[in-house]
Amino acid sequence: MSLFDTHCHLASDDFSQTLEETLKNSAQAGVSHLTLIATELEDGRRAKKIADEYKGPLKLFPTLGLHPHDAKKFDESFAKDLKNEIQDYVAVGETGLDYHYNHSSKEEQLQSFVYHVELATEFKKPIVIHCREAVEDIYSVFKERQSQLISQPGVMHCFSENLEWAKKFLDLGFYLSFSGILTFKAAEMIREVAQSTPLDRMVIETDSPYLAPVPYRGKQNSPAYLPQTFEKLCQIRTESKALIEDTLLETSQKLYRI
Ligand SMILES: [Zn+2]
Repeated sequence: MSLFDTHCHLASDDFSQTLEETLKNSAQAGVSHLTLIATELEDGRRAKKIADEYKGPLKLFPTLGLHPHDAKKFDESFAKDLKNEIQDYVAVGETGLDYHYNHSSKEEQLQSFVYHVELATEFKKPIVIHCREAVEDIYSVFKERQSQLISQPGVMHCFSENLEWAKKFLDLGFYLSFSGILTFKAAEMIREVAQSTPLDRMVIETDSPYLAPVPYRGKQNSPAYLPQTFEKLCQIRTESKALIEDTLLETSQKLYRI
């Protein structure tokens, strides 16, 4: 197999003792490509170091950005560093808005998010979006700038909105990413979206260390568990497994322009 985990946080502290083993298990499980998603500058830089120094069979790609939870850390110096370093990364993010936890205020989150969107537009990089209870605001930020956006502006990570919103983001050129939530019993709405999204507009992810799929639910997630989400997707789609696998890989490469 040749699966692409388009969203995992392997530079986070959760993997500091187990990184090597995790990468090895992931390769053995059939994962071939990983995007190492930053939640702030430091772990983005760590992700780049991991990707630069890694000598094994996987292909690793780092991103750089500030998670909405940490948006209170956004200031002039962060903005300058992000701008200076972004060329060395495949994407801007993870950014977005999270009105569920509100670890940072709405104003702080919007300020950081809009900066990331403008930077991604300027540098023609895809953007990685985290969206929780904030879909209207995220959509309007992009809709207002639609004429300036690059043709495939990025990915809605861990997509968990309904069909109507899926269509709106697909119309803006976004890819939708499906996570282990696909395997959760109560996730009927998300399975419906994954069924109806054009195959060449979707990707899959683990969001490790979070959101482990069934039967690992509640444990620390790993890219090695990506096959569980892939298998579930194959069950709910009509295309052959081989076609789904090939298309997911191709689409993930298009998304990150690699
Ligand atoms: Zn994430």
